[in-house]
Amino acid sequence: EANERESMYLVSEFAQRHFSEMLWDTELGKAIGLTYFKERGFTDDTIKKFGLGYCLNQWDGFTKAALDKGYRLDYLEKTGLTIVKENANDSSNPKTFDRFKARVMFPIHSMSGRVLGFGGRILTNDKKAAKYLNSPESAIYHKSKVLYGIYFAKQAIAKEDNCYLVEGYTDVIQLYQRGIQNVVSSSGTALTPEQIRLINRLTKNITVLFDGDAAGLRASLRGIDLILEQGMNVKVCSFPEGEDPDSFAKDNELEEVAAYLEQNSKDFIQFKAHLLAREAANDPIKRADTVRDIVNSIAKIPDAIKREIYIQECAHIMNVSEAVLFSTLAQIGKKEI
Ligand code: ATP
Ligand code: MN
Ligand code: MN
Ligand code: MN
Repeated sequence: EANERESMYLVSEFAQRHFSEMLWDTELGKAIGLTYFKERGFTDDTIKKFGLGYCLNQWDGFTKAALDKGYRLDYLEKTGLTIVKENANDSSNPKTFDRFKARVMFPIHSMSGRVLGFGGRILTNDKKAAKYLNSPESAIYHKSKVLYGIYFAKQAIAKEDNCYLVEGYTDVIQLYQRGIQNVVSSSGTALTPEQIRLINRLTKNITVLFDGDAAGLRASLRGIDLILEQGMNVKVCSFPEGEDPDSFAKDNELEEVAAYLEQNSKDFIQFKAHLLAREAANDPIKRADTVRDIVNSIAKIPDAIKREIYIQECAHIMNVSEAVLFSTLAQIGKKEI
């Protein structure tokens, strides 16, 4: 219902202002939260632009402040900002807890700049607690339909006619601060068709930037087929071992970061063909699988001319005949568009 959603936006926007106030205007917020962001290399302007904040290390300091201002508990609970538990001693007086207690806060904005939810990062090295905690799904926050940073990046994406897709919040912020502003993140979730459609409205070109930890590489390659399906051009770029776009942009000047991206961005199909060819080198059975794998990706491309060009290139890269690739493509039976 529209009224309920509006109330949830308002309480989320109050939360964003509150967490910012705690960050800038309290001793603990400055000592812990602001110091943390500064150590990551974020400037005052960047911290303000992205609306970053801090949730104090108290059970329900935020919740109390919101209730004091007249925000209703049911909306605090529906947005997930407050966790409500029954009080065994007094059933009319439930216990409330701040979901994001003692975390630095990254508000997540819609395309039009409304606050939909939050990511909160823990500051300790507690291996048992999740490093990042996100708002739960709600009437205003559908994580499969949101891209972190899209509100700040949309103009630059259209202007540059390219969108960088990174893994995390800090990758977006650090690249943006460095001067590469056409950047968004799916923030830890697998890429969805809805997220790609958001980008597709602004540009047909995506460059996926991978952390240099190889962990998610194979899994992420699969998600990229979804981008091809929407007729978009995909490049990929990985970072040196142990680096991610955040650390790389923190330690290098704009010219160096831009040059790195320029030199290391590779056409996705070519990149995948080289990767598969290397992996399967002398194993005939594995080679057959990799041929099917690459043709599966090519089959997702709606444009028949592009498919044909890729078939020729991949035959060359993988050292198989074009005829084999074309017949595999025919078996997959993708209809011409
Ligand atoms: P940082 O630099 O702050 O340590 P990161 O962004 O480099 O974090 P990664 O481990 O590379 O973190 O993960 C990428 C993204 O995946 C994160 O930004 C976050 O959105 C999501 N993520 C990571 N760990 C978790 C977790 N434990 N729970 C939920 N989401 C997570
Ligand atoms: Mn990672
Ligand atoms: Mn990372
Ligand atoms: Mn990182």
